[in-house]
Order: sequence, then C-alpha cells, then structure tokens
Amino acid sequence: MALLQISEPGQTTAPHQHKLAVGIDLGTTNSLVASLKSGLAETLADTQGQHLLPSVVQFQAKDEIGYKTIVGQQAQDNAANDPLNTISSVKRYMGRGLEDIKKHSIYHFVSEEGSAVPRIRTVAGDVSAVEVSAEILKTLKQRAIESLGGELIGAVITVPAYFDDAQRQATKDAAKFAGLPVLRLINEPTAAAVAYGLDSGSEGIHVVYDLGGGTFDISILKLTKGVFEVLSTAGDSALGGDDLDHTIVDWMLAKTGIIEPDASLLRVLLDKARAAKEALTEQDTTLIQIHLDEKLHSQSDKQNSWQYELSREQFEQLIQPLIKKTLVPCRRALRDAHISVDEIQDVVLVGGSTRVPLVRQIVGDFFATQPLADIDPDKVVAIGAARQADVLAGNKSDEDMLLLDVTPLSLGLETMGGLAEKVIHRNTTIPVARAQDFTTFKDGQTAMAIHVVQGERELISDCRSLARFELRGIPPMVAGAARIRVTFQIDADGLLSVSAKEETSGVQSSIQVKPSYGLSDGEIETMLKDSFSHAQDDLDARKLREEQVEAKRVVEALLAALEEDGENLLSAQEQHTIQQAIDELSEIAEGSKQRAIKLKIEEVDKITAEFAQRRMDASINKALAGQRVNDLHT
Ligand code: ADP
Ligand code: MG
Repeated sequence: MALLQISEPGQTTAPHQHKLAVGIDLGTTNSLVASLKSGLAETLADTQGQHLLPSVVQFQAKDEIGYKTIVGQQAQDNAANDPLNTISSVKRYMGRGLEDIKKHSIYHFVSEEGSAVPRIRTVAGDVSAVEVSAEILKTLKQRAIESLGGELIGAVITVPAYFDDAQRQATKDAAKFAGLPVLRLINEPTAAAVAYGLDSGSEGIHVVYDLGGGTFDISILKLTKGVFEVLSTAGDSALGGDDLDHTIVDWMLAKTGIIEPDASLLRVLLDKARAAKEALTEQDTTLIQIHLDEKLHSQSDKQNSWQYELSREQFEQLIQPLIKKTLVPCRRALRDAHISVDEIQDVVLVGGSTRVPLVRQIVGDFFATQPLADIDPDKVVAIGAARQADVLAGNKSDEDMLLLDVTPLSLGLETMGGLAEKVIHRNTTIPVARAQDFTTFKDGQTAMAIHVVQGERELISDCRSLARFELRGIPPMVAGAARIRVTFQIDADGLLSVSAKEETSGVQSSIQVKPSYGLSDGEIETMLKDSFSHAQDDLDARKLREEQVEAKRVVEALLAALEEDGENLLSAQEQHTIQQAIDELSEIAEGSKQRAIKLKIEEVDKITAEFAQRRMDASINKALAGQRVNDLHT
C-alpha cells in the first residue's frame, strides 16, 4: 500500500506553510472530513457543496478494469433498488463476528472457509466491513486532496467511546486500505470537546451527549487551562436515529398490515420514516405516502398505496421510550465520574438526532440546563478532529494541548474458575501501564496460559476474549512460589499490549493484542512532544527520527508476526522474501536518508500486505472460534 508523499522541507509548495492533516468523522450514517483553513477548522464540501457524506457504498458488477463503487448520496438513492449491494451503517459491523451482526442485517453475510471475517456477498464479490469503510475513507481523502490542493500527511479519525479494541483496530485497518496514515484515533465526544473547548475556552465540567444515527455516547469531561480530561464515558452502541426510523416503520407496518417486508420495501419504508422524522423537527405534522410497485411487491393483495399523517405528538409518543433509554448511561457516567448534576457547567449536543426537539427537552430536563448546540451537531466531531490533527501534524509549535482519554472497558485476565480479574479498570486515563502479580496453581507447573479479556462482568464467558498467549519455561516450583508479573499497557490509541514475566527466573513472554500496529507509550510521547516543541529548522531531523521510529516499529511488528504466524501462514519462499525485506529495512533505517527509509517502508508494506491480511483473518478466526482455555495450569 502506497504511503502518501511528504515533500521535503523547503520544497513545500506555497501557499501551504503547514502540513496538511485532516480530521475525519467516520460515522455510522454520515461521514465528514474537516481541516484547518487560515486557522479555522471547517468541514470540506464535495463539488456539489455537500458536507455530509452518507456512509453508504454501492458495489457494482466487475468489468475488465475491476469493480466499481459508488459512495455517498448517490449510493443512498440507489439503495432501495439495489438493497443487497448497497451497504449502509457498515460501522455497526466493524470488528464484529458473524454472530454479532447477522441478526439485524438485511445483507447476505458469508464466512469463508478458513476465515471468520464476515463478508457481505455483493455482485462485486464478498467484501468485509473494513473494505467498505475504506471506500468511504478513500472518498473523503480524495475530497480533501482536491479541496486543500495537496497530499495529506495523515488523518485523525474518530470512533465512538464505546468501541472496543477489535473495532478500533478495524478502523485503523480501513484507513490502511484507503492509503491514509492515521495520526491518531480519538473518541468522538472527546473531539466534540476539543471543538468547543478551544473555541470558547470555558473551564469546568462539560457533558457531551451524542446521539447519532447508530450509536449513543455520553461523556463527562473536565476542562482546565486547555487540558481536557475525560472523567467517564458510557453509552449504547446500538441506539440512535436509525432506531427512531425503525419505530416509525413499525408504526407504518402496523397501519398497512404488511407483515414481512422484503429488503427493497424495508429500504423504501426506512427512507420514508427518516424523511418524516427529520420533517417533524421543523413541523408539527408530516404526510407519509407509500406507493408500492405492483410488479415488484406482492405484499398485500388488497392495496398498494397508503397515505398517513404523523403528528409530532404521535411521533414523540412513539420515540419517548428510546430517548428515555439514553438517560440510563447518563446516570452511570455521572456515577462513575462522581459528579452530581448541579456541578455540570453545560451539556454539549452532538449528532444529527439531537435536533429532535424531544431529545433536547429530555436532555435539558435531566441535566437541568439548556443544552448547547452552537456548533452544528453534525459537524462538531469532525471539526474537533481537524484541530487535533493540526496539533499532531506539528503545525502548532506553541500549543500545549494535551488530550487525556479514558479506556471505555475494563481489561483483565482469566483466572482459575473462569473468573475475570481486572487489571485496568474502565475509565482509567490512557496511556497507562498497570502490573499485577499472579502465581502458579500446581506444584511443578512450568507454563501458564494467559487469556486477556475485556468487559465489566465477573465471568469470563460474559467478557470479550481479546488474546491468548503462553508463558513457558517457568522453573518447576511448589504451587504459589512463582511470581508472575503481568503488565498491561494501553497506548494513546487505546490499543493494548500485555506482557508476562516470571520474576525469579526472568523468563518472559508478551503479546501486542494487535501486533502490527501501536507504538509504545514512549514512542507516542516522543512523537507528541516533538510535534509540540520542534521549530521549523528541526524538521529535517525530526522527520528522519520519525521515519526511523516507524521503520523500527515495522521491523519489530513484522519480526513478531513472523515468529508468531510465519510457519502457519506462509510458504518457506514467502518467509524468506519477508525476512530479506526486514533485513534490508533494518539496514537502511540505521542510515540518515529519510526518503530512502520511507520508500523502503512502502516497499515492505507492499510485500507484506498479503501476510497482514492472512493474519487478520486468522486472528479474528481464532477469537471467534472461542475455544476455552482449559484452565491456567498445564
Ligand atoms: P452518525 O454519527 O451516526 O453518522 P449523524 O450525527 O450524522 O450520525 O446523525 C445522523 C442521524 O441524525 C440520522 O438518524 C438522521 O436521520 C438524524 N438527523 C439528521 N438531521 C435530523 C433532523 N433535522 N431531525 C431529526 N433527525 C435528524
Ligand atoms: Mg457521529
């Protein structure tokens, strides 16, 4: 995969003094790209002047050139006529296994032999959620390049606070497929806070209430002297405007007597429902008209056209339970942050669904304050991401904005009896490292199976399995004598690595939950500090260092990957080719030619792309297989 070009210092083409970095809100329903223009963050429009890109991708049949995709509004318009090849709300499937997603989907999911990555069957072939998201990112990237007039050095991409490790990783993979370097993933509510915090500079406790198309997030933030701290987050990853649409569809189905709408009809009804809902934000009533094409639908023998009036009052009755449901996570977040309602300075509204008047009313009543919506709730996340991208790109040398984030779910280990022992509790500020000591269960035990899990529940079976690895070579001792220190480390992107070390003998073993990415805390800190403090004249040295760090990261990740999966997934010849590429990269990285290192990394990326894909499939496969570790002794 080709990395984007970075011009050498001094050769940068005027008028862009600073590096082009963008913020991307990769939404369930709509996606946006934003950037700083003359110091102001703004979302970028397409050639038709549209800022919101519907997150919809239509796949068309392959021809000699390959398959073609249509992304955005046109795809959304085509969805009703081609529902199975037109993928919307793909974000709901990111980093998910077949069982998680099949239930509520109209798409034809398949799981190929030897791979548990669910794929959607389309006329263009079977596509994964990551590939679909990559199409959206490619479109936004292209829009940004055209709008800003140059190549991008990278993007800050936002994800819901509730995204777990697999979902975050899938988002990074999508960016990789799109050829877009990720400067950082940040939580959507945090991005919104960045947008507001920097604009208004008001200090205190802020609540971010984000009701989008597919997800609900609540975050409690503390803002002091330009430093954000996320005190707590909570939410519901399956609640949003789509559910309001479904409520209206259910109402329509009950009225029409249609029992089982097919995919096309459902799409038509959902589009009608959404239009009605959005109309009711401005109006007191709206007219819903449904006409069925008789040849296509034989849903009802009696009738094929209906017309109903829906009032705002009726609509509010229908949706009230859903909106009230958002207050449950609100209470939980307040409790986690040890904040009472009267300590809250303001409530920021994010997400298109917060335009619904009933939402504003219920949120306002609950928090006993008039919620803020100064910045367009559709755009505020992208705008905050753009600001953060600008800082990470190193364009703000005197800016001292440090973003503190929290881990949304607890992380821990399986212990005897199928219990989960938490090592890092949810809502811990990241990056973070925590260690905990464990011991052996049996006399003479020489190995230990480490099973890393994520979740709040006590039983392993209720938590999400993230990774497994073994610590071998523990000297035989009586049970309870060995001292095994397990260290969890979460980097600034929220990605986890775990290591285990037997203290008396020093044997150790480790796993990066997603080994091919993720810098260590130290490296990220260095890069962040660099981006804050380096002046223009240091650019050369810094670029070289970053490239060297990147090379080292690539080499280390590949060596780890080879060791772990080389034998299983590669032929001897393939292993040899990759090893050779690693050796060459290590050698070049010792030198001081930044561009040569960069080109070599690109080459290595290309050579290893297939391997990365196979590993991803295999690891998801393994996670899904859900084999239980027998127990913690051998
Ligand atoms: P996401 O973050 O999930 O991509 P957005 O923040 O773009 O979503 O919000 C999309 C949701 O907002 C959709 O369900 C859409 O119908 C809803 N929405 C947009 N405008 C309005 C409006 N004027 N009134 C009510 N809902 C709206
Ligand atoms: Mg959103």
